[in-house]
Amino acid sequence: MSERVHKNSSYLNAKSTTGTLTRVKDVSPTSGMCPICIRECPFLCEISLAAFRGREILYPEPAQYGKSTAGSLKDYGLDWSHFNINSSLIGAEGISADSDVALFPNVNVESKVGGIPLRIPVLIGAYGSTDVARLNWDGLAIGAATSGIILTVGENVCGIDPDAKIQNGKVTYSKELKRRVDTFRKLWDGKYGDIAIQTNVEDQRLGVDVYALSKLEVNIIERKWGQGAKAIGGEVRINGLDRAILLKKRGYMILPDPEDKAVQEAFKEGVFQTFERHSRVGMPSEQEFLEDIDWLRSQGAKRVTLKTGAYRPAAVAFTIKLASGAKIDYVTFDGAGGGTGMSPVPMMNEMSTPTVYLEAQVLKCVEILKKKGKLVPDIVMAGGFIDETQMFKAIAMSNFGDKPYVKAILMARSPLTAVMKSSYFVELAEKKQLPKAFGERYGTTPEKFFVGAPELKRLYKERFKEIPWEAVGLYTYLHERIKVGLQQLMAGARKWSLDLLDRDDIVSLSERAKAVTSIPLLEECETDAIERILS
Ligand code: SF4
Repeated sequence: MSERVHKNSSYLNAKSTTGTLTRVKDVSPTSGMCPICIRECPFLCEISLAAFRGREILYPEPAQYGKSTAGSLKDYGLDWSHFNINSSLIGAEGISADSDVALFPNVNVESKVGGIPLRIPVLIGAYGSTDVARLNWDGLAIGAATSGIILTVGENVCGIDPDAKIQNGKVTYSKELKRRVDTFRKLWDGKYGDIAIQTNVEDQRLGVDVYALSKLEVNIIERKWGQGAKAIGGEVRINGLDRAILLKKRGYMILPDPEDKAVQEAFKEGVFQTFERHSRVGMPSEQEFLEDIDWLRSQGAKRVTLKTGAYRPAAVAFTIKLASGAKIDYVTFDGAGGGTGMSPVPMMNEMSTPTVYLEAQVLKCVEILKKKGKLVPDIVMAGGFIDETQMFKAIAMSNFGDKPYVKAILMARSPLTAVMKSSYFVELAEKKQLPKAFGERYGTTPEKFFVGAPELKRLYKERFKEIPWEAVGLYTYLHERIKVGLQQLMAGARKWSLDLLDRDDIVSLSERAKAVTSIPLLEECETDAIERILS
């Protein structure tokens, strides 16, 4: 049995996520502390920084808030690298077995989730009230629309919008939510992908769903039960006292209390620079959930979806049961290991079920549902996905002989990275400060270094100028890398259509991978075929 669960001893007391370090490298495997801890140590480890900053170091470095994303750094003993993809030699499925036709660019990677067609099996989001989403919205929205995928606006966007109009506790206008929807729709073809609005407990109280359906005419409303990186609801940093007070008055939990005089003085004296805005957690019950989903449809929601975190196995079964009963269009299960803006570091690392384990649980549940003849909602998996190899394996694992249960993969951090990096390098190009080696290799202007630009120019012609370079970067990442990479892998497996991927296309490389997923080990794979072919 593989024992890769994190044994890096420096992990407990020093993390790049919080910017902490230990004085020596050979730390205690049990505590992560230096074997000799001295008074005159200039380093800030987890313990010593906590002595100064307390709760602040529960979070990724506060100074990077709004300009960064963060995820878990723990090795969970099982991830997608514990599987390999079987390549095939004979024949071709989903296309004519003709060497001139069965070419990898002819692989069809389109999918459908909840009845919505996708050009590639990808959703991105949910990007909510965290600053990094707001600041990078143009790239995310236009990049998603031109890529033909679903983009989800995350929780609390209206609640935190300073320009929102709220009457009798219900939102009647939100400049920020409207901007987010309008930006996506600018270059959306109206067919592939769409924009979804996610709603948590706070959003439901504020009537964000009704506002989004009636005033912004969105098609998809997503209910949120949590995410893999944190199970206590969305959190953001607020850097102004007045804003903190406003949000407290709107009903949010703000820590520390911005109306407390001692807190106000400490803030003004610079003892701390930001407040935390937390959300409440949901208390789902079967009856209320079923009624709520019916009500959403009666309000005009064409699709109703559910996003849930990586809760314990019984909660996974409960979620699947309710999603089936309510005829939810698709459910997103978000495994531990991902993250976006502001999740507590210990929670990202230590809490919830990592993605491969979670998918195994989900598949067990949906197989039971199917055997009972119940409706199985489309499944979307999330949690640390950045490339097509993970996607291939996650989709293939979910096909027991009919069609894959997993219709698409949701990514959050990596699309933001593509957008942020594009934005930064375009800025450097304008200032003529690009790294020398990058400029020499790829060119010094965006027209040259974004290899996806010519394709977008061909597709959008005059309207290409409406596509910001950040969106070109996201499109290039999704279509020039992930789509092409997926086509190559699938052609190597001799499968020319996504719904042909199945469990025979992958093998386990570790005992744990096999134990968790029942995918056979490589040394067990097709042993009978060897005998049959040669005897
Ligand atoms: S305070 Fe002690 S445990 Fe922390 S880095 Fe310094 S010597 Fe090591």
